Amino acid sequence: MTTDTTKTRFAPSPSGFLHLGNTRTALFSALFARKNHGVFLLRIEDTDQERSQSQYIQAIDDDMHWLGLTWQEGPGAGGLHAPYLQSQRSAVYCNYFNALEQQGLAYLCFCSERELDLSRKTQIASGQPPRYAGTCARLNSEEVALRLQKGAQSGVRPTLRFRVPAQRVVEFDDAVRGPQRFNSDDVGDFVIRRGDGTPAFFFSNAIDDALMEVTHVLRGEDHLTNTPRQIMLLDALRLPVPRYGHISMIVGADGAPLSKRHGSRSIRELRQTGYLPDAITNYMARLGHYYQNNGFMDLDVLAAEFDMSNLGRAPAHYDTTHLLHWQREALMRADTNTLWQWMGADVHALVPIEQHTAFVAVVRTNIMFPEHALLWARTLYVDPVALSPDACKAVEDAGNAFFEHALAALDQYGNDYKALVNHIKQETGAKGKALFHPLRAALTGELDGPEMAQLVALLTVERMRSRLHMCWQACAPMEQSPAT
Ligand code: GLU
Repeated sequence: MTTDTTKTRFAPSPSGFLHLGNTRTALFSALFARKNHGVFLLRIEDTDQERSQSQYIQAIDDDMHWLGLTWQEGPGAGGLHAPYLQSQRSAVYCNYFNALEQQGLAYLCFCSERELDLSRKTQIASGQPPRYAGTCARLNSEEVALRLQKGAQSGVRPTLRFRVPAQRVVEFDDAVRGPQRFNSDDVGDFVIRRGDGTPAFFFSNAIDDALMEVTHVLRGEDHLTNTPRQIMLLDALRLPVPRYGHISMIVGADGAPLSKRHGSRSIRELRQTGYLPDAITNYMARLGHYYQNNGFMDLDVLAAEFDMSNLGRAPAHYDTTHLLHWQREALMRADTNTLWQWMGADVHALVPIEQHTAFVAVVRTNIMFPEHALLWARTLYVDPVALSPDACKAVEDAGNAFFEHALAALDQYGNDYKALVNHIKQETGAKGKALFHPLRAALTGELDGPEMAQLVALLTVERMRSRLHMCWQACAPMEQSPAT
């Protein structure tokens, strides 16, 4: 691989299911790599052993594949820089900890949480920004040895802090937010290795981005303040610095960070509800990123038209109605077999084998989720069909004679909807709603839905006959039903 190959990465921590925020980061990273014929890398940030769970690594893998966000380097895909689970890279980090320590660029810190907390409070009280006061920065080797010995007895292990260079201006050109400038004096010496020996996430991420030849790091803007620290670390270790881009946050209608309260759900939950992957990718790609093209796009087109300079700096507003719009678009385009599978086992159990294709074609414009497909399957194939109050009203308004004519027409024309309607129209003089509503009401229980001619083509004549009888009984039980 040449060094000018674009390489992006997604570095989720397996502490839960993917949510819209981090999946959008993955999507933008995948699209940018694909647009540039580069590599999209997946790396699992599982260094925090308490929070990481292997079931979530599997879930990330599944959900990314389901969305079509496949990676060319990472777990399962292999690559020159394996392993891609950070929990398996301790030896790599250890080398860099040692290098920094040997050069005096990092030092052991013995301060307890209580001491640090107290120091922070004192700084805040005196109007200073809270940062590490440097208590352990000046310990000599005897003092360090003594404290290590004491720590070994009491079981307390020191952290390792990076010695932030004084009066350094850290500048970088953020791919989304433009030129950024930080003063190193505003950043206290920070922990790069926790007491338990595991690396701070921004340390391992910076090291791995450099070693894995990542060229572009796209991530949430909540990581912006980690960037100067990572740049200082990489500079100290003479490792290459990637181009960083910090994506705006997703917020709800009230401007607060997106949460369950705003209807936001994990990718897993969206998937279980029945959202199609194309709906989610089409929506997310536009969440904080502007496309001139308002139409539905597959991942290749989303990638071709992706433009880093179209990533907005303002927070992106999550709106379920937009997601539903893309769901409708995705449903219109999905192929028959995909939709049939998507409808699920309950639908499969009801629809006769020879009607699979027709059923999908008839209902696809009237459904959003599999549960709706199930309602139509019940409507078509399960008796008795329940009539809504509006449907009953239409039946009552039509009167007994209407259904007598309908039954006569049925005997003559079977489930040829057009012929049925023409016959009833001729015999009763009914037209418009007075003609169409009672028929639809009696045969489907509702006043709206998919095209009647197509629905009726899926009904047997026997079922139609029984429904034309039953509707009258169900809605006007005291009156006489039409003669058989
Ligand atoms: N696990 C971090 C996150 O998902 C990754 C941070 C980074 O991208 O550097 O926010």
